[in-house]
Amino acid sequence: MKLRTDRVIERLNALAAISDTTNCIDRAYGTEAHTASGDLLMTWMSKAGLHTKRDTIGNIKGVLSSKVVDAKHFIIGSHYDTVFDAGKYDGPLGILLGLEMAQYIINNDLPIPFHLNVIAFADEEGSRFNTAYLGSSAIAGFFEKSWLQRKDDEGISLQTVIQKNSGISSNIDSESISKENCLGYFEAHIEQGPVLCNENLPVCLVNGIASQTRVDVHWTGISGHAGTYPMNQRNDALCAAAEFALAVESIGKEHQTKLVATIGKLNVIPNTPNVIPGKVEHTLDIRSLDDNFLMEVGQILEQRAKEISKERKVNLVWNIMQTNTSVQCDKNLKRCLKTGIEKAGIRQVLEISSGAGHDAVMISKIAPVSMLFVRCKDGISHNPLEYVTPEDIEKSLEVCDNFIKELIHQNS
Ligand SMILES: [Zn+2]
Repeated sequence: MKLRTDRVIERLNALAAISDTTNCIDRAYGTEAHTASGDLLMTWMSKAGLHTKRDTIGNIKGVLSSKVVDAKHFIIGSHYDTVFDAGKYDGPLGILLGLEMAQYIINNDLPIPFHLNVIAFADEEGSRFNTAYLGSSAIAGFFEKSWLQRKDDEGISLQTVIQKNSGISSNIDSESISKENCLGYFEAHIEQGPVLCNENLPVCLVNGIASQTRVDVHWTGISGHAGTYPMNQRNDALCAAAEFALAVESIGKEHQTKLVATIGKLNVIPNTPNVIPGKVEHTLDIRSLDDNFLMEVGQILEQRAKEISKERKVNLVWNIMQTNTSVQCDKNLKRCLKTGIEKAGIRQVLEISSGAGHDAVMISKIAPVSMLFVRCKDGISHNPLEYVTPEDIEKSLEVCDNFIKELIHQNS
């Protein structure tokens, strides 16, 4: 196990060294560094004995075929794109653990009742085209043609990037895996939160991924001189937004076991010390495992915003940008994973839900999904301080081996 842990760490370091920016990890979709990291993953997959190819969108697929007639596909995956100034574990850890699971099957000559697909998804973070899950949506057959026209900050379209890197974008549709042919999906990922640190556990089960709604909120009042305009005659857009922000916090705290609510990005216009803010634009991000409850919260907050708008005579625009329903992890796959955790001698099988989105969200459209969270130091992610200890990587490998053995046993 020690040698494999060393190999995973070496490979994490090798991928971290490939970046578009000096002195930090930066591999947005379709860039030179992104392509080079994909090349390296292909080399490792081929070396492991997998039949390897890069698809049109840029997913790297390594397949170990089953000898069983009419065998279905089991997918293990995570993503190889990163945010700017990323850590080295978010994404690559799940791919490399998947590759080790395939290697374990090959080394032990285990007959498999399903075709094993190790997939490194090309884009999950969506940092270049503001579209999360580009890679997994292509595999699930949910890639939307309109995304091809999206442009990055330099005005380069997704279509241009695909044409430059792979050729014909119309091939994307034919490269998906159909629901009928899909047995299941497994993804290991760093937790990106503090629960495992607090509980002093290396890994845990994921029971589901939260539904998420993102709203753009615009408040338009009247700008004026900060020194001359009387307080009782103002239509201050920032004060309206501030009152709303406290309402968002309040509802979040009131339902803290099943809701998180955040205003994370805010633009104040004109953003000048001596001018009353005339316009404020901000985001609203609300997440819950309960889809109906989330919808209800969205309506309550919209109603509250309308009231504030009326009371303060500040105009409101409410724009829902994105809604993803929640994903429940599959009971049977969870049972296999639980066995894997118990057999690895971990004292407790903890189950938590994921507030962050993962490729499993997209793959859940074609397969039952399962996820394992791995402890990361202080719950920090999307940051160079992201860290997983070698001991926890070793434990994760053990859990993954146990899981795949149990899955093979169950389907044989
Ligand atoms: Zn990730």
